[in-house]
Amino acid sequence: GKKIAVMTSGGDSPGMSGAVRAVVRQTLASGCISFAVYEGYQGLVDGGDMIKKMAWEDVRGWLSEGGTLIGTARCKAFMERPGRLTAANNMIEKGIDALVICGGDGSLTGADKFRAEWPGLMDELVQKGLRKEEEVRAHRHLNIVGLVGSIDNDLSGTDATIGCYSSLERICQAIDYIDATALSHQRAFVIEVMGRHCGWLALMAGVSCGADFIFIPENPPSENWEDDMCNVVKKHREMGKRKTIIIVAEGAHDRQLNHISPNQVKDLLSDRVGLDTRVTTLGHVQRGGPPSAYDRMLATLQGVEAVKAVLDSTPETESPVICIVENKIVRKPLVDAIAKTKEVAAMIERKDFAGAMKGRDAEFEE
Ligand code: ADP
Repeated sequence: GKKIAVMTSGGDSPGMSGAVRAVVRQTLASGCISFAVYEGYQGLVDGGDMIKKMAWEDVRGWLSEGGTLIGTARCKAFMERPGRLTAANNMIEKGIDALVICGGDGSLTGADKFRAEWPGLMDELVQKGLRKEEEVRAHRHLNIVGLVGSIDNDLSGTDATIGCYSSLERICQAIDYIDATALSHQRAFVIEVMGRHCGWLALMAGVSCGADFIFIPENPPSENWEDDMCNVVKKHREMGKRKTIIIVAEGAHDRQLNHISPNQVKDLLSDRVGLDTRVTTLGHVQRGGPPSAYDRMLATLQGVEAVKAVLDSTPETESPVICIVENKIVRKPLVDAIAKTKEVAAMIERKDFAGAMKGRDAEFEE
């Protein structure tokens, strides 16, 4: 049967282990042979025991586990062609020419580059005498399928990435805990949340927790944001609110792209509004813990779809990324999704904030 490998790469997210489980089991259920590549691209470059054959029971219980149990890494060697040549050699040694990768846009960009280079890498392996012509002949085409694992929900073209709803849930829980102290002492809390260049977590956490003010990179506040924020907070206090919650995305900035830091916001609340203010950076608790029911569902359905996409592919089909759009699991061209994601980042860079808001997922369009 066909040999299909699964790998997790880049930042971990809740649900990645569930995605690996689904890919392994759907591979076996389809009569194929399953492999897992440990420690991301580093495992492909290192080869040997890092590329392990997987059995049904190897992934038992993985659906409810946080992070990724096959490990993930950032790998410098894979960024360069010689590293990718070694990776290709290790794959051919095991007869693998199909790879399902669960990771962020960096990992998926690397995967598509690998696929495009593959025929050339095969020629080079033969020229260098590392592989015989007949070993390579059956593997002229590399099959790549992407799964988006990220807490940031930063890939354009899919409504949710594997992990984002678990992270949102965790952030909301944490803010509920902070609320107790805020209410008791009538304090203000400035809470920094993850998301890199994407404001989805900050925006949705703000909506879900009734925050007073939210800072996200796609929609920076007005030029007079310092006055605006202080006025909003004062108004809420005058209406009887005993707490103040401000959410700052880690990538937040003003309209001139100057970073807005939680401490800067704290000083404003302390000095101009006179509130006893604390900063809380939630940090890595946002990435940890068991995946939510939604992420288990998403990881499972998308993992199954990824294996189906591998089995449907021909040398002519573009590499797909498995998305969810309006509650349907769909395949989209991987390169398009990445290009659209990069375009949003470029829009923010050139201060086209209206375009950036539109370019994100449907939730942002309002
Ligand atoms: P994420 O997948 O979460 O966006 P990174 O951007 O750190 O994370 O990418 C993870 C790994 O993917 C990198 O360490 C590298 O090994 C590989 N990678 C990323 N971008 C490329 C690229 N342009 N070419 C080749 N490999 C890449």
